[in-house]
Amino acid sequence: MNQYDSEKLNDLLEFNGYKQSNNFEESDIAILNTCHIREKASEKLYSDLGRLSKFKENKKKIGKQMHIIVTGCVAQAEGDEILKRNKSVDFVFGPQSFHKLPMILKNSNNDKVYNDFLCENKFSSLIPSKSKEVSKLVTIQEGCDKFCSFCVVPYTRGAEFSRSVENIYAEAITLVKNGAKELTLLGQNVSSYESDVIKDGKKKKIRLSDLCQILSEIVGLERIRYLTSHPIDIDDNLLNQHQKNSKLMPFLHLPIQSGSDRILKKMNRKHNKSFYLSLIKKIKKINKNMAFSSDFIVGYPGETDKDFQESLEVIEKVRFASSYSFKYSPRPGTPSSLKDNFIDEDVSDMRLKEMQSILNKHQTEFNLSFIDKTVEVLFSGKGKKHNQYVGRTPHLQPVHVVSSKSLEGKLLNVKLEDLTSYSFHGKLST
Ligand code: SF4
Repeated sequence: MNQYDSEKLNDLLEFNGYKQSNNFEESDIAILNTCHIREKASEKLYSDLGRLSKFKENKKKIGKQMHIIVTGCVAQAEGDEILKRNKSVDFVFGPQSFHKLPMILKNSNNDKVYNDFLCENKFSSLIPSKSKEVSKLVTIQEGCDKFCSFCVVPYTRGAEFSRSVENIYAEAITLVKNGAKELTLLGQNVSSYESDVIKDGKKKKIRLSDLCQILSEIVGLERIRYLTSHPIDIDDNLLNQHQKNSKLMPFLHLPIQSGSDRILKKMNRKHNKSFYLSLIKKIKKINKNMAFSSDFIVGYPGETDKDFQESLEVIEKVRFASSYSFKYSPRPGTPSSLKDNFIDEDVSDMRLKEMQSILNKHQTEFNLSFIDKTVEVLFSGKGKKHNQYVGRTPHLQPVHVVSSKSLEGKLLNVKLEDLTSYSFHGKLST
């Protein structure tokens, strides 16, 4: 979502006469878009600010100005604290206020911190993208009402907000006209999407399933994905879409976080292991091509060896196509950061290593099952080598193909021949 926000901020600034610079030394504005989800990510801000402030001082010595601006979730969560810790920062604005930046730069008053939660204003101020990329992100929902005990999102992105269907549709049409063939619908809890439309004089609720159907009717759009879902918000209508909508890709990121019911309860996840496993079973029954990825937290406060083994059992049962796993990182202000039964770092390190080796093994096995198969690949651009093009399969696996003709933007059948780490090499199928 930060990637999407950065693109939108760039569109907005270009529209207002600013230009993105490739030469950092020539820039007169530096904007840091920050992430607060893990401790390391937010600490990175302060080390980057240290470097930038020296640069700003040096520019001042030769009579040049530089603005340093911090946005994103750290800006939302820490606001004034950022200004206190680094005096060279000019403005701080949260993710729901970035549309105000051109106005702030033009008529700066004494305010230095902007962190309202007015999503609606932000989306109605966005500028249509001129990007010609094949695969694009589109935010459809922001914020979260789930309050998992380890997560900062409800505090930094606010309550769940769904963007209007008209607004999303207009952005999708522009992107497809510009050359996009694939859209990934984004939300912190995307499966909770719900917006009203008036049809035949009556109010109708549009959920994620309806939105996928509406967008799939756009001529020229070939693929739709969505990210990230909470298991309890996946409804039967969405499952039906995975059965009947050929543009909806058969790959679902479905975080579980832990395989232990005891830990899931402490995490306030609102689902247990058997609910999650039966949902996976149900989805696979509806569409046998579906593959899954997930998120795991290792070393949550109070996690025992038994709890950890239960996470490994879930991994063995589902055999994820890919996954993200992290050591628990206490985030200030979240309920779990107030606990006192933290797990020893060495224990968490060992558990994470063990989990990642199993997840990697499953990912490799999943990928190897595609060798010698022919799959549709959507090519998004050039690879690093001469005449090499890069694309993705329906299951998001990267594929490299050598071709003397441009493959960019094409959806083509490719026979997958080799696997190097996590990406394939293949040949166009005739
Ligand atoms: S559902 Fe996801 S975004 Fe929402 S609180 Fe839980 S982890 Fe955070």
